[in-house]
Amino acid sequence: MTTLPPIRDVIQRHGLSASKALGQNFLLDEQLLSRIAALPGDLAGKQVLEVGPGPGGLTRALLRAGANVTAIEMDRRCLPALEELGEAFPGQLKVIEGDALKLDHGDLMNGQPFHVLSNLPYNVGTALFVRWLGGEAWPPQWQSLTLMFQREVAERIVAQPGSSAYGRLAVLAQWRSSAKLAMKVHRSAFTPPPKVMSAIVHVTPAAAPEGVSARTLERLTEAAFGQRRKMLRQSLKGVPGALEALGALGIDETRRAETVSVAEFVGLARSLG
Ligand code: SAM
Repeated sequence: MTTLPPIRDVIQRHGLSASKALGQNFLLDEQLLSRIAALPGDLAGKQVLEVGPGPGGLTRALLRAGANVTAIEMDRRCLPALEELGEAFPGQLKVIEGDALKLDHGDLMNGQPFHVLSNLPYNVGTALFVRWLGGEAWPPQWQSLTLMFQREVAERIVAQPGSSAYGRLAVLAQWRSSAKLAMKVHRSAFTPPPKVMSAIVHVTPAAAPEGVSARTLERLTEAAFGQRRKMLRQSLKGVPGALEALGALGIDETRRAETVSVAEFVGLARSLG
């Protein structure tokens, strides 16, 4: 195995004091990082997109697992440390300096299938998650997403109907994918520790239900959960055809969005065309 200096030393040597503005909370525990890198299964020879490698803790675990990593990092202070890492794993690491929210990931990966792994600041992670899970084209180019979120957001992604965590994010994550809470991560695992606990969500694409437009489903969940305390007959009033679809599918219009299963939302979206 390639011997590398501890990440703590890399951070010190390159003066990578954590920037609050960039949401930097680094993971230094190499055992934990190896366990995270193993979540998608065997990555030997696979293409991996890592967003926000920072000083490269997760990156080195991915490289050790034999992955070919393309890493997007916004903080140019991290680039020399990542360059050193690339030299230790010749031909396996490509670093792109930039904002992951502004780049076309499919293009970056040259149209090849890829796995995504990332420990990102909360707002960037959620924005990318919504982008990766959205759109009409399915299956996506990515084969799995392994993403760190603040625990409360992870729970919203895997939530089931009937819970207060269940909402748009759960439907988005579950209607044509399988989403699992793969690992809880204590705040003390990070340097510096964030205020809240974290968890890793693992998502794999499934078959898309036939005849359902992602946009229609999104419009429905936006309306339904936009007024989640209201009955469906009120919250879906503004969506043309929705009340008739409720009747046709035998969904009681006095129910609230929180009780409507992913399959029922899919059925409604299909009826609306
Ligand atoms: N992966 C490292 C780890 O696990 O220790 C660093 C994690 S730190 C929470 C998040 C990283 O994402 C930082 O290095 C930060 O500079 C980077 N970052 C933040 N916003 C970004 C964006 N929009 N595009 C690319 N990288 C971003």
